[in-house]
Amino acid sequence: MEQGDIQYLPWQADILRRALALKLQQHLPHAVLIDTTSEQDISSFARYLSTLLLCDKPDDLRTCGSCQACRMMQAGTYADFNLVTLEQNEKTKKINKNINIEQIRKLIHEVSLTRNYERLKIAAIYPAESMNKNSANALLKTLEEPAPQVLLMLLTHNSGRIPVTLRSRCQSWSLQPPTRAEALEWLEKQGIEAETADNYLQYADGDPVLAVQLKQQDYASLVAQFKTRFAQFLRGDLSVTDLCHGLLTSETSIIRRLINMTLMAYCYQASGVNANASAVPGADRRSAQALTDLQLKAQRQLQIEENNLDLQLQLEDVLISLKQILTRRLV
Ligand SMILES: [Zn+2]
Repeated sequence: MEQGDIQYLPWQADILRRALALKLQQHLPHAVLIDTTSEQDISSFARYLSTLLLCDKPDDLRTCGSCQACRMMQAGTYADFNLVTLEQNEKTKKINKNINIEQIRKLIHEVSLTRNYERLKIAAIYPAESMNKNSANALLKTLEEPAPQVLLMLLTHNSGRIPVTLRSRCQSWSLQPPTRAEALEWLEKQGIEAETADNYLQYADGDPVLAVQLKQQDYASLVAQFKTRFAQFLRGDLSVTDLCHGLLTSETSIIRRLINMTLMAYCYQASGVNANASAVPGADRRSAQALTDLQLKAQRQLQIEENNLDLQLQLEDVLISLKQILTRRLV
């Protein structure tokens, strides 16, 4: 039978191997906290890890794809696996910012029920840092009195935001990012040639999955285009509105990344950290503080979702401020 869609990434192998070994030794903890520095959604990793732990005949780190657990996990019908995650608000259609207490109460109730199958029962919470205080407190009681044959899996991008009372009751597993060599090798397997892969890996701060996403959006062309147009804007040959219009055809996350990257480059240059950034004109040491402040401000201001007019206004504000800083010393 086909393996199906659920797969894992090579740099996730260590944690899978460790989990499987603990299962075979019957030493799996009641609760684990899995943290990652990557910004990528790791809910599919949670599913893969769970399937591997439930699978009757795993072959090394591959799930068999044909046992009852594999088939039902693949179909999303395995009753002893629950993943609690951020839900969509029915009215606004936006994704909620928190995992609310009702979701956690429901999960706790499900965990307390008798198992449907003679396997482990798994309850996963992702992103665990999105639990509010009440949710975390409710979960704490379950962690204090763990049920047998239940594995609670907390997955997070920021373990520091999880109450220490919760963290201290979980075994801590860290999902390490790939090394540069691993990332480049993987990108090559995705059909991206070496030089492009190297370039995009830099844009993605070393995260190869993000690098592929940026490549799909032709981020390099956007950067090149923005550089040209930004230079025109600095010279006064292009209005801020026109500069922003060119950007707003891209996804908000891409715009944020581009602006942040631009500000970072100026910050580095102004503070003398990165001599290679000398291609960007105008900044100097005295501007370093102003640029750092602007970068923090921009990160806050550009968090707006789905409201293009607001985004345009904020974007214009940031770019005008940047121009003022960069041209100040020329006045
Ligand atoms: Zn299986």
